[in-house]
Amino acid sequence: GGFGLATILTVLFPYIEKVIIHLFDFDISAHISALFDQSTVVGKLLGGNSVLGASFGIVGVGAFIAFLQQIWNSVHNLYIDYFSISLEIPSSDSSYWEVLEWVHERQMKNPKHLSLQTETRQTSTGKWESQHDFVPSVGTHKFRFQGKKFQIDRKRSEKTEDMYSVNRLENIVLSAMGKDTSVFREMLAEVKKFKEVKNEGKTIIYTAAQGCWQSAGHGKRKRPLNSVILDDGIAEKILEDIEDFMNSAEWYTEFGVPYRRGYLLYGPPGTGKTSFISAVAGKFDLNVCIVNLSDKSLNDEGFNRLLIDAPENSLILLEDVDAAFKSREIESTTTKRSNMEEEKGPTASGSTATAFEGMNRLTFSGLLNALDGVASAEGRILFMTTNYVERLDPALIRPGRVDCRQYVGYATKHQLERMFRRFYRKASDEEVRRFVRNVLEMSEKPEISLAQLQGLFLRYKSDPAAIFSGLSMLFDKD
Ligand code: ADP
Repeated sequence: GGFGLATILTVLFPYIEKVIIHLFDFDISAHISALFDQSTVVGKLLGGNSVLGASFGIVGVGAFIAFLQQIWNSVHNLYIDYFSISLEIPSSDSSYWEVLEWVHERQMKNPKHLSLQTETRQTSTGKWESQHDFVPSVGTHKFRFQGKKFQIDRKRSEKTEDMYSVNRLENIVLSAMGKDTSVFREMLAEVKKFKEVKNEGKTIIYTAAQGCWQSAGHGKRKRPLNSVILDDGIAEKILEDIEDFMNSAEWYTEFGVPYRRGYLLYGPPGTGKTSFISAVAGKFDLNVCIVNLSDKSLNDEGFNRLLIDAPENSLILLEDVDAAFKSREIESTTTKRSNMEEEKGPTASGSTATAFEGMNRLTFSGLLNALDGVASAEGRILFMTTNYVERLDPALIRPGRVDCRQYVGYATKHQLERMFRRFYRKASDEEVRRFVRNVLEMSEKPEISLAQLQGLFLRYKSDPAAIFSGLSMLFDKD
C-alpha cells in the first residue's frame, strides 16, 4: 500500500509541484536540491556518508510529510474561507455573555472545559448571595444549531479593556460551513429569546464600562415595590407620572417634543432612592442602565454614545449627579470655592480631585448636551439621584431635563411604623406603637435613614423585644 502511494506520488509529483508553485509560490524541487547541495550545512554534514544519507532520507520523508500537511492546512483554510461563514463578537458587545451562556447550553458533548462566571448580589432582604454560571472556556468548542454544526472560538488577548481595568479583551468567533449568513440573525434572535426566558421576573443591571453597556450576565430578581417604603404618596405620584408618560407617545410625536422624561430623587443617603428606582424598573419591566458620572474614563463623546446606545427597554440612572456638577465648579471658579467644598466632606473633595486630573473628562456642558439629545421611540426614562440637591446647577434640573423632582428623606413616623411591621410581621399594634414612641422620645425629629432601621432590625431579627435596648444605635452618627 505504502509503496503504491509512493509510486503515485512520484508520478504525480511534477503536477503537484506545478500546482504548489502556482498557488503558494513555493518551489519544492529547488528547496530539496538546495538541501542536498554540498555547500549547505546539510550537504556538508552528509559528506557522502551513506548511513547518514539513509537516515537523512528518512528525515526527508518526514519533512515531506510535514510539508504536505502544511499544504493540506493551507488548502483547508482556503476552503474554509470560500465555503464557511463566521461571526465575530467582541467582549465589548452587550450580547457577549449571553451568547456564551446560550452556546454552553447547546454544546454537543458534555463540555469538559468550562469557565466560571460568578455574580455576587444582594437580595431584597439585604443578604449577599452568589450565583454561578458556566460558560465555554477559552478555546474551541462545537455546538449545533438548526441541525448544523457550529464552532465557537473564544480568544483572550493580552490587552486589557482600558488602562483602569483588569479585565482582558476577549472575543468569540462563531463559524460554520455554508454561504448564508442569515443563520446568524436567527441565532441571535434565539439568544434573545433565551435571555428573555432566563430573565423573566428579573431586572438586568447594565453598567457603563469602557464606553459600553455591560451586564453582569444574570438579572437581579425584581424588587417588589412594596419592599421600598417611602413617605405617603411619593411612590404613587411617581408611578402615576411614569404610567402617564408611557401612554403618551402620540402626544410627544404630535407636538415634536423629544419623548423622554427625567426624574430627580434627592435627599440623604440610605433613604431608598436607588432601591425605589430598581423597584420602578421591575414594575414597568425595564432594565436599569447605571452611569457613574465620576468614572475617570468617561468623556463627553463616550457619555453621549452611551445614552444613545442604551439597551432597549431600559431606564437610565445617573447616580450622585452632584459629582458631575463639581467638575464644572472647578472649571469656572477659584480654589477658594473648592476649599469650602472640602469642608463639607471627604467624598466631595475626592471627586473634585478626579474631575480635575485630566482634560479628557465629561464636562458639564457635555453632560447637558447628551441629556438633551437622548430620546427613543419607546420613551426614555432617566433618573438622577443626589444627596446634595443644593449643589446642582439649575441648568441641570430645569424642565425638559428634570421634569419631576422628589425629596426622599429620613424616616417619618409613618415609615417607622411600616418598616417595623414589614420586618416583624407578627408584631401587635401595641408593639408597633411602642417602637415608634420610643424612637420619637429619643429625638423629636429623628434623622434616621431607612437603611439604618434595616440595620437595626437585622441585628435583632430573632428577638424584637430586645430592640429597645439597641435603639441608641439609630442615633450614632459615624
Ligand atoms: P439611597 O439610594 O437613598 O442612598 P438605597 O436605596 O441604596 O438608598 O438603600 C440602601 C439600603 O437601605 C438598601 O438595602 C435598602 O433596602 C434599604 N432602604 C433604604 N431606604 C429604604 C426604604 N425607603 N424602604 C426600604 N428599604 C430601604
